[in-house]
Amino acid sequence: MAISSPCGRERGELLARGYWNSQSAICVRLLSWDEDQPIDEAFWRERLRRAIAARQPLNRIAAQGTPAAYRLVNAENDGLPGLVVDRYGAWLVVQALTLGIEVRKQMLAGLLEELLQPAGIYERSDVDVRSKEVGPQHWATSGGSPPPETIEIDENGRRFLVDVRAGHKTGFYLDQRENREIIGDWFRWDEQAAEREVLNAFSYTGGFAVYALGGLARRVVNVDTSAEAPQAGTAQHRSQRLRARRRRFRGGDVFSVLRYWREQGRQFDMIILDPPKFAHSARQVESGGARLQGHQPAGLPASAAGRGAGDVLVLRCDQQRPVPEDRLRGGGRRARGDAQIVRWLSQASDHPVALTFPEEHT
Ligand code: SAH
Repeated sequence: MAISSPCGRERGELLARGYWNSQSAICVRLLSWDEDQPIDEAFWRERLRRAIAARQPLNRIAAQGTPAAYRLVNAENDGLPGLVVDRYGAWLVVQALTLGIEVRKQMLAGLLEELLQPAGIYERSDVDVRSKEVGPQHWATSGGSPPPETIEIDENGRRFLVDVRAGHKTGFYLDQRENREIIGDWFRWDEQAAEREVLNAFSYTGGFAVYALGGLARRVVNVDTSAEAPQAGTAQHRSQRLRARRRRFRGGDVFSVLRYWREQGRQFDMIILDPPKFAHSARQVESGGARLQGHQPAGLPASAAGRGAGDVLVLRCDQQRPVPEDRLRGGGRRARGDAQIVRWLSQASDHPVALTFPEEHT
């Protein structure tokens, strides 16, 4: 539909074209600023083609027969609000997050088949945000053959087994691909890697651990609340032939485990922190819903300090507000350690952020 602002309507001006859902808190999703742009199949084909073309280096890896895994369509950020498309080797996993996409999903699946010729397209529309405006969660094979129980993918030359039906997100945290490689490089070039013990907090199946151990870190302790993480993670590590004594999966709440270890004086040489989004809106941050905004980060340097030079914290920002640096600084002073921020990490480049949608940046 064409959209005009209250004042625009008075002046009879057309502002943009988009799709409308009166049931949604975001009732209009903009598609085009061009008032003459028809929103037809050719429009959607061109938007998909553009999003796919923007992933050229990754597409090339996939075209060589490597079972690459990456995001092909990142919703609003690729001009396709409500649509996520991830590639896992020969399969595509799609999410229809808005009503505007829900009603077009057959057509979109047909276009994806035409543009990418996947072995199959699996729809996994099971995110909370969908229930607010589309309705119940939905799983189905929308085209081709259903995905196998686990798909073997290649990420930066390492193989992972992914369950696209039940794994988190669309199966794997694809947004961390570049960060995992950074961790791998860190350990590859670290002459003291073999002495380093790493805490991988919010580990899920231990993706970061695979890279740290591949780079010869002595040991990685993974902590996550997810019930399937230990089993899936152990299978992951086995397939990489990483020795059992070098890895551990501990189920539980990172904050409680850290508190316990701090009391015990347990320390690590490196802490990898990859927390989920604790605050889903600015209001939750204000009301203290974001646990990482609390006192916890202050204790982290204490958990990492005291093991000599090279202690590192790797932090990822919460979408709504980054982990506050001043709290870390305070924690570092109290721990009498020289903690450094080596670099702030962000999402991989196949998860672009539209300039008009800065909330998406992590
Ligand atoms: N680092 C992972 C991705 C982690 S995403 C990877 O590279 O694959 C965030 C993870 O935090 C999820 O796996 C979720 O299960 C876990 N999580 C959420 N709250 C937690 C808590 N309080 N303590 C421990 N883990 C938690």
